[in-house]
Amino acid sequence: KKAIAVMTSGGDSPGMNAAARAVVRTALYEGVKVYGINNGYQGMLDDDIEELTSRSVSDLIQRGGTFLGTARCPEFKTPEGRRKGFENLVKRGIEGLVIIGGDGSLTGGSLLSKETGLPIVGLPGTIDNDVWGMDYTIGCDTAANTIVDAINKLRDTASAHRRIMLVEVMGRNSGWLAMMSGIAGGAEFVLVPEVKFNIDSMCEEIKAMYDAGKRYSIIVVAEGAGSAIEIGKAVEEKTGIDTRVSVLGHIQRGGSPTVEDRMKASMLGEKAALAIISGASDIVFGFNEGKVVGVNLFEAVNNTKTLNPELVRLARVLA
Ligand code: ATP
Repeated sequence: KKAIAVMTSGGDSPGMNAAARAVVRTALYEGVKVYGINNGYQGMLDDDIEELTSRSVSDLIQRGGTFLGTARCPEFKTPEGRRKGFENLVKRGIEGLVIIGGDGSLTGGSLLSKETGLPIVGLPGTIDNDVWGMDYTIGCDTAANTIVDAINKLRDTASAHRRIMLVEVMGRNSGWLAMMSGIAGGAEFVLVPEVKFNIDSMCEEIKAMYDAGKRYSIIVVAEGAGSAIEIGKAVEEKTGIDTRVSVLGHIQRGGSPTVEDRMKASMLGEKAALAIISGASDIVFGFNEGKVVGVNLFEAVNNTKTLNPELVRLARVLA
């Protein structure tokens, strides 16, 4: 009987469970054995691998995090480490692997594929939405909704005190989460690593807005654009307006996935399982402009995604 494996790796994201569940249930539906690798590449090296049943993935679709666990594994960055992991799969007759993770995890998968010939299919599991060739990654919608919810609350208190409120959000080197939540949250400024910004002119604009009667302003800062705490200090100094900073942190990683993340994760999980069962390899499935796309794994990891300039413009126009 044919066998495949599924794992989650890197930073967790809401919807990883829904994706893994879909991989498992699709494989079982197709009569294929499916193994779960615990704790990412670390579990692959430690031989922490078990066969999954339909029941293994029950009561999971609504949960954030990942039931398989995830980890960072420096040893997997060496060819010896990857060879060791490969051997743990081969001895179980595993003929293909679905990796749900971010850019780093997919890079590890591309090397495993190249060096061992093991078929690999990737799914983009990260809140950062920074995987090339697609405009959606599993978990980004839930994280953006969490940030917008925080902005709504911060707006109330900022307005009460006529304060400037800075909100630092995740995204690593990508400004996508900041841009989406900034636009959807109605922020006055969105600072992202992809676009140069000038704190002096921003402060001049804020002062003018307050002079004209504005009661508050929200500045969303992508973590990749700099420390909101440092920027907040500068803003308070330059404007003379009471300023507060919220660094949202890991709140953004958790929570029950939104309908969008559950649906897309489920659809991508099925796609990935069917592809790997059919013997396909080196594909990352994602969504682009509302449609499922399969991009080449090596292209996905060797290219850097850029921020949609239309979003950058929209944020300015609506502020
Ligand atoms: P996120 O962006 O959401 O944090 P990620 O998948 O990018 O997720 P990383 O920590 O970059 O997270 O990668 C997860 C794991 O993938 C690493 O701990 C390592 O085991 C493996 N990995 C990352 N980069 C490489 C690489 N260049 N070569 C081999 N393996 C890698």
